[in-house]
Amino acid sequence: MDKNKILVIYGKHPMEMAESILEAAGIETMIDKDMNIVIKPNLVVAKPSSSGATTSPKLVEGVIKYLKNMGCENISIMESSWVGDSTKRAFKVCGYEEISQKYKVPLIDLKRDKTKILTYMGDELEVCLSPLKADFLINMPVLKAHCQTRLTCALKNLKGCIPDREKRRFHALGLHRPIALLNKFITSHLVVVDGIMGDLTFEEGGTPVEMNRVILGRDPVLVDTYGAQLLGYSVEDIPYITYARQLGIGNTSIKDDTVIKLNSDRFTPGDIKAGRKVARLAKHILEDQACSACYGSLIHGLQRMDEINMLKDLKEKVHIGQGYKGKTVDGIGIGSCCSGFEHNLKGCPPNAKDIIDFLQQVSNKGKEKKTNDN
Ligand code: SF4
Repeated sequence: MDKNKILVIYGKHPMEMAESILEAAGIETMIDKDMNIVIKPNLVVAKPSSSGATTSPKLVEGVIKYLKNMGCENISIMESSWVGDSTKRAFKVCGYEEISQKYKVPLIDLKRDKTKILTYMGDELEVCLSPLKADFLINMPVLKAHCQTRLTCALKNLKGCIPDREKRRFHALGLHRPIALLNKFITSHLVVVDGIMGDLTFEEGGTPVEMNRVILGRDPVLVDTYGAQLLGYSVEDIPYITYARQLGIGNTSIKDDTVIKLNSDRFTPGDIKAGRKVARLAKHILEDQACSACYGSLIHGLQRMDEINMLKDLKEKVHIGQGYKGKTVDGIGIGSCCSGFEHNLKGCPPNAKDIIDFLQQVSNKGKEKKTNDN
């Protein structure tokens, strides 16, 4: 698979999605069955993936099943939960002990791993030894927002490959530069993102938003650039992405043909209980049979607008969903289904960044009209 491409598959069945996306990526051409393969999920806390915090065990199981069918036997899962939580507990609570037993795949708690000091251009980082020994590292982050770095996806997920004392130092160093540098030392040969259930605001979950997609790429910088757009951010909002590009880890150029969608989302939101925060944002939406990926993008877009005090300028409700197909409406409609609306943002689904820019334009037009009328 071309390093400059990203694959996306929509759905609600992570195991099957893992199989389809790995096959489409041609993983057989990247892996030799005798390789030491390391899977690095995000188990930052001991909470199930439905919380929006951790990687779906079913997605990881799908990847392992595929690799085992290829004849790969040397596979392990490695993680170190955040400072203050036990990785062992996270493996248990998040459903990884079952996978380990079923497929004979060891779980390695990196809090107990040996470490090594690595240096690049005078900067030092202390890194766990086991991930450095991987012949092929499959980085499996969750696409979610983060209260400090705004985004957590592929690049930041490697923070689980350093000891706790180094995690503390990362915070003291402002996170962005060390996160980028860490990716210089540890290579993500493949990134498989759990974009099925991410979190609106926090890496520890609690405000889950259903996005129903899995994203695959070979360049963690490109994957994070795309992930940022999906959550309503640009590259400039997340400095570690630019630092990683400057270190030669990957590129940030998303062109029209970069993202290849293997199918479309055909699931509607509503079968997940929305938390208070999501419910508050949903008051700005009139939804009729919206696909969950589309609806999730809109929720993320509204949240980002709220964070920068822009949401108060949105005076009308925003329509979204297949129920508006073919209708001509004097209002705001998100997605190609609402192409008959006076104000429409195309895309199927559009990303949160485009939604924010579009709603800002519509709000500005509304303000101008009011001024002219006065
Ligand atoms: S534009 Fe319509 S069909 Fe496309 S993702 Fe949105 S709701 Fe679904």
